Amino acid sequence: MEGRYQILRKQFIRCMLFLVIGIAVAEAALYFVAYRTEVSWRVYAEKNFWLPLFINGGGWFALYCVFESPNVSDRWKNFWSIFYLGFLCTTVSAVHYRQIPAIIGCYHAPVVWSAIYGDERLSHTTHVLSQFSLAFLCSFFSWYNGGMGPNEWGIPIIMLSLIISWALAMMLMRFVREKDEIIHLHKQDYESLGKRLLREPMTGLYNHSAFYSLLEQKIRERGDAPISLAIVDIDNFKKVNDTYGHENGDQVILYLAEVLKRHCGEEYFPCRYGGEEFAVIFPGLKGKEARAVMEQILAEFREKEFAWNAGPNITFSCGVYQHDSINMTATELFQIADQMLYKAKLGGKNCCVSGL
Ligand code: GH3
Ligand code: MG
Ligand code: MG
Repeated sequence: MEGRYQILRKQFIRCMLFLVIGIAVAEAALYFVAYRTEVSWRVYAEKNFWLPLFINGGGWFALYCVFESPNVSDRWKNFWSIFYLGFLCTTVSAVHYRQIPAIIGCYHAPVVWSAIYGDERLSHTTHVLSQFSLAFLCSFFSWYNGGMGPNEWGIPIIMLSLIISWALAMMLMRFVREKDEIIHLHKQDYESLGKRLLREPMTGLYNHSAFYSLLEQKIRERGDAPISLAIVDIDNFKKVNDTYGHENGDQVILYLAEVLKRHCGEEYFPCRYGGEEFAVIFPGLKGKEARAVMEQILAEFREKEFAWNAGPNITFSCGVYQHDSINMTATELFQIADQMLYKAKLGGKNCCVSGL
């Protein structure tokens, strides 16, 4: 994920600056504690103070530029941060080649640090690079000193122990990945549960409480656009239930839900707020336009012939109203749309009535 380690890198670059300064201060302190009587500051500082400060500082600035660059990917930024840590270890150990075993122990830091990014390839690369650089130092110093002295023998030991660090880094990464997967699964469960809480189980439409919060939300978000609400009630449904049974009645509800979903798509929001009562929120539609959509739905619905129905086809009535004042609440809009529905029922059912 791009940008995921941005904060971590910000802290890292700050820490590295302190480390560069800290190394320089430690080198200066070392002179006054250990070498003051043996060598002049000018000679000592050239190799132990100014040169490392210049190289480490230059490397730090290069890393800073890499971190700031929008053209470098996250993965490469992570790689260069680890590379720089290894680079610092190398410059310190190059200056203090006589205390190699102690200082090269720092090689563990980049390998372990690589685990933080959870990138196995990065960890492999870091490990291999560290091993190569240790092997190089080992051969260089044994050549320089004309054979492996007691200090140089420390290097192969560090090379071996680095394998343990690397294995630890891999273990850590796997552990974190497993934990991430568990968190991801829980998140998915949580999200799907949240979605299910908004729906009513029979038709999958928004339920009563979701309907009200959705209506309030859509009214809030409407801006200058119109918004309309339709209220639907199946006609003579009690009779359908009484004559053909509750299960056949359910078929009617399911069919209406299906037609509503098909016509509304992603744009409009059909809800089942009661037993055989539905509502549709029409963001962006004027009352007349919403009514036209509802009439299409009614035309399709009443064409349906249920095999068990010996009587006339089943119909619904619908009331539509457009939100018409800034202060109108969701409840007020619902009440007026419901009055329109009442008019439709009084007018003989099987029709849509709109206020605006
Ligand atoms: P009107 O035309 O005036 O609407 O008359 P109506 O008979 O449809 O009256 P009303 O709207 O009050 O009817 C509600 C009926 O809907 C009563 C109840 O038995 C039925 N009902 C409510 N929920 C369900 C359901 O989930 N399944 C079935 N099969 N029937 C339901
Ligand atoms: Mg009813
Ligand atoms: Mg009814």
